[in-house]
Amino acid sequence: MPSEFTGKHVTVAGLGVSGVPAAKVLHGLGAHVTVVNDGDDERARTQAAELEALGVTVRLGDGDTLPEGTELIVTAPGWKPTKPLFTAAGQAGVPVWGDVELAWRLRGPDAAPWLAVTGTNGKTTTVQMLASILKAAGLRTAAVGNIGVSLLDAVTGDTEYDVLSVELSSYQLHWAPSLRAHSAAVLNLAPDHLDWHGSMEAYAADKGRIYEGNRVACVYNVDATDKPSTEDLVRAADVEEGCRAIGFTLGTPGPSQLGVVEGLLVDRAFVEDRQKNAQELAEVSDVNPPAPHNIANALAAAGLARAFGVSAAAVRDGLRAFTPDAHRIAHVADVDGVAYVDDSKATNTHATEASLAAYESIVWIAGGLAKGATFDELVAGAAKRLRGAVLIGADRALIREALARHAPEVPVVDLDRTDTGAMLQAVQEARRLARPGDTVLLAPACASMDMFTNYNQRGDAFAQAVRELGA
Ligand code: ADP
Repeated sequence: MPSEFTGKHVTVAGLGVSGVPAAKVLHGLGAHVTVVNDGDDERARTQAAELEALGVTVRLGDGDTLPEGTELIVTAPGWKPTKPLFTAAGQAGVPVWGDVELAWRLRGPDAAPWLAVTGTNGKTTTVQMLASILKAAGLRTAAVGNIGVSLLDAVTGDTEYDVLSVELSSYQLHWAPSLRAHSAAVLNLAPDHLDWHGSMEAYAADKGRIYEGNRVACVYNVDATDKPSTEDLVRAADVEEGCRAIGFTLGTPGPSQLGVVEGLLVDRAFVEDRQKNAQELAEVSDVNPPAPHNIANALAAAGLARAFGVSAAAVRDGLRAFTPDAHRIAHVADVDGVAYVDDSKATNTHATEASLAAYESIVWIAGGLAKGATFDELVAGAAKRLRGAVLIGADRALIREALARHAPEVPVVDLDRTDTGAMLQAVQEARRLARPGDTVLLAPACASMDMFTNYNQRGDAFAQAVRELGA
């Protein structure tokens, strides 16, 4: 069947996770597809061979030259807007879409609406909580986007959905100009990826695109008041008539908000019984783990579900059924009255701040690749809760200096090693510093690649070391 892509010259920028499926789908729709890719390593060559066998043209080793005759570019989300390819596209008037834009355009006429989530931290957790709630309501759904099922598969595959729980990164939003969600949430905004976006304003503006054209609700974080706030982003968005701004807060909710009252998650935005001005949704203890930032995630997920008409009982059942992915505040074991918690996924200071706020007395294991971050604010905010700190990894001196400035009385063990085995020593040192009732918390505030393949391996090494302590 002819489509708007039949005979069109489309350039796919970047092989990899999104590029290969995008090239295949476009080719299947009758487009003339050329893939351009910066690298030409082993993996790229294998992927190229697979595509060439289908009849797709692939250019390895040159991602900067715009192929002659290009009418549309579909780019991998991570490609920087300042790349020469996009400058050339701009001059030639060629539109640039990301994988999300492509998926949005390819969805069928009866496609499931999207409930979309972005934010600096908590996206994956929140879309999974949301999917769990939607399932508890008997809806056919999946958590899609950066995780699990790809968006392209979800909109072009055979599985039918009633609604999708969609995780979107700031990069994907940058390249998705026509996306219009049913409802959307921005969880929080802290400086991240600024080298890509160019400035905090540009980063916030890309995140804020998620609210554009929302039909039912724009869900924002009442407690995140740094400028620009998520509420500012709602105000700046052009939404459909009747679309509501819905806040979530860890405090007592006002009208049109969800919040917490005496250990209960409470909805004052979508109240079923007109005699009442608040609807109980769940107990705080239904949220796993019940750390403050995770309760915020649960409230955001609940806000989106309620905007879609889901009952209070399904919110509770969905939250109870949810278990977080590995390495996100995962309780590994108790040894001699000390809890050992793996939050290896805390790869930036904003995530680590949330994790440190969840415990009273902490021996903190931190360090790795700082990615240009500074640690003064993080350490100053957490100083009172620190029993001690054990530092690992390439950039540990930055954290050590921040500790010396803002928490000089906290004992610090500085492990001068970056080999994988250092984790066992780190855990042993942490054990020495800890007293019964304390929490030993791996929340590195840094990326892991100096010592480990990824944050999963770092978390596994921590858990293994804890098991050795216990044995
Ligand atoms: P993302 O998909 O945005 O990276 P995840 O759900 O995978 O988010 O969580 C990433 C990290 O951020 C984890 O270390 C987690 O403890 C922390 N985190 C989760 N939710 C929040 C939040 N609402 N605010 C701050 N940090 C959070």
